[in-house]
Parts: sequence; C-alpha cells; structure tokens
Amino acid sequence: MRQVIIVGSGPAGYTAAIYVARASLAPLVVASSVEAGGELMNTTDVENFPGFPDGIMGPDLMQRMQAQAEKFGAEILLDDVMELDLAGDIKRVTLGSGETHEALAVIVATGSAYRKLGIENEDRLSGHGVSWCATCDGFFFRQKTIAVVGGGDSAMEEATFLTRFADKVYVIHRKDSLRASKIMQDRAMNDPKIEFVWNAGVTALHGDTALTGVTLTDTVDGSVRELDLDGLFIAIGNDPRTHLVHNKLDLTPEGTIAVKGRSSLTSLPGVFAAGDVIDPSYRQAITAAGSGTVAALDVEHYLASLPAELLAQAVPA
Ligand code: NDP
Repeated sequence: MRQVIIVGSGPAGYTAAIYVARASLAPLVVASSVEAGGELMNTTDVENFPGFPDGIMGPDLMQRMQAQAEKFGAEILLDDVMELDLAGDIKRVTLGSGETHEALAVIVATGSAYRKLGIENEDRLSGHGVSWCATCDGFFFRQKTIAVVGGGDSAMEEATFLTRFADKVYVIHRKDSLRASKIMQDRAMNDPKIEFVWNAGVTALHGDTALTGVTLTDTVDGSVRELDLDGLFIAIGNDPRTHLVHNKLDLTPEGTIAVKGRSSLTSLPGVFAAGDVIDPSYRQAITAAGSGTVAALDVEHYLASLPAELLAQAVPA
C-alpha cells in the first residue's frame, strides 16, 4: 500500500507529486493512457507561466513538471483509473490494466474535458474535419477554409494558431462581444486571415466522410445560412471531469468537486482534490499548480494525524 496516489497529471497533479515526493512519500501518479500531461499538451506557447519570460510550449512545460516529480521519487503510470473506492481508511484505485492499488490518501486532479456543441454528427465527424485541438490537427488544414467556435481565450488562441495553416479562419461566436482577454482579442482581430461571425450558433454539421460545411443560425433574428468549411474547431470551454467521483464526493452547483474553504479537503477524509476539477472560475496552469501544492500539504497533515498502525502498513512507512 502507498501513502498517496495522485489521479491526474496536469499542473495540479504534477505539482502535488513534486511536493509529496519531496516529503519522501513516493507517490504513485496515475497519469492517464492518452491524456498524460493534461490540457497543456494541446497548447502552443504558454506566455503567462511565471519564470518563462520568453514563453514555453505547453508539452515542454508538462515534461519538465513530470521530470521534476520523478526526480524526487514519484512513480508515473500511463494508465486510466476505472474505479475509485474512497470510503474507508484504505482507498483503492482500480486501473484500466485491471490492477488495483491501495493508498491512505488520494488526490483527485482529473482536470476538465472539452465541451461539445451537442448537435447531430458531432461525434461521427470528430477527426474528420471536426476537432477540439488546433495543435493536434491544424496541420491537416493547410490552405483550407476553417472555423473556430467560441468567444473565450481558447477560441482566440486556436484561431490565431490556425492562421499558420489555413487560408481563412472564421471565428463563430453566439454573442456580439468576446469573453477573451483583451490581448488575445486584439491579436485575433488584427489578423487579416481571421473573420468574425457574430451572433451565430452552429446548428448543423454537414458531410458524409468529412465535414463540408455548417448551418449557422442567427442568435438575434433566427435567420439561417450555410457556410462551406473544411474544418471546424470547437473551443467553447470545459467541464470538470468528475465521473469517477459521482455519488462518492460532494459536488458544487457548478459541477466541480466541493472542497472546504481554501483547502483541498473533500467530503471524505483522506480524499483531496486540486486543479480545474475544483475550480469553476480561474482555470489557469499556475492556479492549478498552486492548488496542487495545497493538496500536497493537506495530505501531509492528514497522514501525520493517522494512527501509527495504519501508517506502518504503507510504503514508505
Ligand atoms: P471560456 O469558458 O472562457 O469560454 C467559452 C466560450 O465558448 C465563451 O465565449 C462561451 O460563450 C462559448 N460557449 C460556451 N458554450 C457554448 C455553446 N454551447 N455554444 C456556443 N458557444 C459556447 O472557455 P475557454 O476554454 O476559452 O477558457 C477557459 C479558461 O482558460 C479561461 O479562464 C481562459 O482565460 C483560460 N485560457 C487562457 C489562455 C491563455 O491565457 N493563454 C488560453 C486558453 C484558455 P459566452 O461568452 O456567450 O458565454
């Protein structure tokens, strides 16, 4: 049995791992089989993480965090958690491989998942013109006409990045003003390849084997028009990834895991949560990293409060 298992490998999970490992608690990090490193693996330049005045590529930042955690003794497993048994003193984490690992404490840092439009053909055309990741798929749209849906920082970042490949990038937004920060808005608005389509919702996706176009419905007057497209990138935000803890941990009305005050303490003793999965508002790499630190320190206090007999069962004791 371990002292600590960390579920998730974004900035929250890896920062928690760095702290817990430096406290000689040798955590196991279940990093996911395909999404190890979390959302920053799908990002290009990260310009606002302190300490990198020239910016750093998202995947590069995550590799550094992983290396830092491993250097202090964290073990990283590229597998997915299928089941969490969190109720007793000894927590059980069952993986996709079928293995079950035990620990005295668990940190849930599962982040958030891309939001979908929720319209017909979205899943069928995913990977065939419909994408949630410009850095992954942008390369396939050289000299094409594409669109990004959304009005936040992600949509601006994706649109700006996609101008490297596409000839034309529409930004389709359901309102007439953007939620994105001013610097990201300005960058997109000043780009000659980007054209904004205001007050429009994507209401249908067309194409047999690949996307050929979309139907746009005006959100003000309800009028409908068609737009021919080779690709559509959906950047309309994220939802906290809580499926593993439904009916096990208390959630907030926003759907994030509920924690006590500014701590990482969830509704169950020995279970801690950190990062985007507890944060409906800020959702930055640096706030997730700070949240991972809080969870690691809370775990240390929790372990120190446990009876010696229980602690003696875990490695390292
Ligand atoms: P946001 O929640 O900030 O924005 C989502 C956007 O999508 C909004 O404009 C919203 O519209 C729109 N939207 C939501 N649901 C739908 C829907 N069903 N149909 C159509 N449009 C929809 O998400 P982001 O992913 O952009 O950003 C999340 C967080 O990450 C933010 O805090 C952001 O600052 C941060 N971030 C920072 C970056 C950076 O600094 N480099 C890069 C990327 C993200 P509406 O405005 O009408 O609500």
